[in-house]
Amino acid sequence: MPPSLCPCCAWKRDVVTGRGSRFLLCRRSSTDRDFPKYPMQPVRSCPGFEPPTLDRPGPDPVGERDDPES
Ligand code: SF4
Repeated sequence: MPPSLCPCCAWKRDVVTGRGSRFLLCRRSSTDRDFPKYPMQPVRSCPGFEPPTLDRPGPDPVGERDDPES
């Protein structure tokens, strides 16, 4: 897959479903409807991209179980 901005964006979160499928969740989607919850990859350009900072240290580790397939 070509490189995408999302894996190194401070707003990204990995989601693993109960069936073991992995999805990339954009946390900006919770407050801004311009951002899809599960952006189609690869994302080559994004106005919301932010590199990790001390305030927002980086992508959360694989986290919440949220099943986008349901
Ligand atoms: S803000 Fe943009 S680059 Fe960052 S996770 Fe969301 S869609 Fe990806």
